[in-house]
Amino acid sequence: MSETNFDYDLFVIGAGSGGVRAARMSASHGAKVAVAEEYRVGGTCVIRGCVPKKLFVYASQFHEEFEDAAGFGWTVPKATFDWTVLRDNKDKEIDRLNQIYIRNLNNSGVEIIDSRAVLKDAHTVHLVGEGRDVTADKILIATGATANVDESLKGREHAITSNEAFHLDELPKKVIVAGGGYISVEFAGIFNGLGIETTLLYRGEEILRGFDDDLRVTLHEEMEKKSIRVITGSVFTEIEKSGDGYKAHLSNGEVLDTGLVMFAIGRDPNTKGLGLETVGIKTGRKGEIIVDQYSQTNIENIYAVGDVTDRANLTPIAIREGAAFAETVFNNNPQAVDHSIIPTAVFSQPEIGTVGLTEEQARAEYSEIDIYKSKFRAMKHTLSGRNEQTMMKIIVDTATDKVVGCHIIGPHSGEMIQAIGIAVTMGATKAQFDMTVAVHPTAAEELVTMKEKWVAPELKAAD
Ligand code: NDP
Repeated sequence: MSETNFDYDLFVIGAGSGGVRAARMSASHGAKVAVAEEYRVGGTCVIRGCVPKKLFVYASQFHEEFEDAAGFGWTVPKATFDWTVLRDNKDKEIDRLNQIYIRNLNNSGVEIIDSRAVLKDAHTVHLVGEGRDVTADKILIATGATANVDESLKGREHAITSNEAFHLDELPKKVIVAGGGYISVEFAGIFNGLGIETTLLYRGEEILRGFDDDLRVTLHEEMEKKSIRVITGSVFTEIEKSGDGYKAHLSNGEVLDTGLVMFAIGRDPNTKGLGLETVGIKTGRKGEIIVDQYSQTNIENIYAVGDVTDRANLTPIAIREGAAFAETVFNNNPQAVDHSIIPTAVFSQPEIGTVGLTEEQARAEYSEIDIYKSKFRAMKHTLSGRNEQTMMKIIVDTATDKVVGCHIIGPHSGEMIQAIGIAVTMGATKAQFDMTVAVHPTAAEELVTMKEKWVAPELKAAD
């Protein structure tokens, strides 16, 4: 029973990463909590994002593993791949995780309501699926984001987003993935590894805008080595149905035959039709809910966490924001999430791990920086014969010797950056990196053995 006159102390809209964490932690502090979910408990990350994506990445890497085995003496018979086995096994695993999320909410005493929820006033939520209203002292909006499509594009209805990519009836022979961000490079790697002729189409000059330039260039090169065609500076002008597939008309004049077109052109905060205007909640240009450092909106009792606020659109950040909300509001312990240093991975092939400032950002922020850079072929590929480069880069503020950025592209860099993230978050200096004993033989040892500052070739030539 709520201690207020409301039905609940807290009503959470959206049972994804942020909403579930906030709901469970608030309940553990004694709040009476309900969470409404219109699709499946677990949210984008668990149901149709990070988790199934990573399973697909694993599946797509076997292709190269089988090839690489030859240099180590293994004869692997011609491998065949069955998409339906992967898809259905993935679905089983997602069902299992979905059940765990439901069980955890139940065990925490959180009521789950399978319905879309819309704000009616600052304390009232309308449950669309059940045709009734409920009231709450505090409301938390954690509705995430939805995949964008280019609605103005002729033939747009022929394209899918990552939502549908997880459930395809069969795999096409050819695919075009539009966009140059996280999802686009990850799915291009997945499709290519599963044996599909893959094209990535990006409107800008170089993929992965916002990442360190060395990562961007290296990934582009490595994707091309793996036979992914990367077209930059171009967009679709029309997608036309043609036989069993499509003709994709590009702004560079090319017309490509393809069996599938997938948009990965960003995600917008999921705020449409949520009743924000009715209540007067302030939103930004993309529809994101504007919140303060404690995730509080301009309406005193309404909060928002995760992608719907468009701060840093990553699962671990939504989880942190959800936990900080519960501490602040239900445990009398105000906590603001620090968004300044965020280690993150891109599960492209090769994988990217990155933390801190890019070289460009560091040059803008500090008067002088030192760069340490190493590009090499991983030990495994001496025998496999694969011509894949690993690149590691450390950016140091010269004045303080502090490592302000670290960028890695190569196998397992997501795993590496988690550990490096601790050091960078702690404010480690380059001297402390150098003091750390190398783990041999690993690729990661390069991170503590880079002694020489990197000098741009044009500066070297001027010496
Ligand atoms: P991103 O914001 O990463 O990238 C969007 C891409 O689409 C950019 O290359 C952008 O180009 C391009 N684009 C945007 N609008 C158009 C348009 N109208 N026509 C053509 N191209 C366009 O979005 P994603 O969809 O890849 O991913 C969504 C979010 O999901 C990310 O922000 C990320 O936080 C999260 N995510 C995280 C993952 C991880 O942690 N590993 C994995 C997957 C997703 P431009 O650069 O020119 O703006």
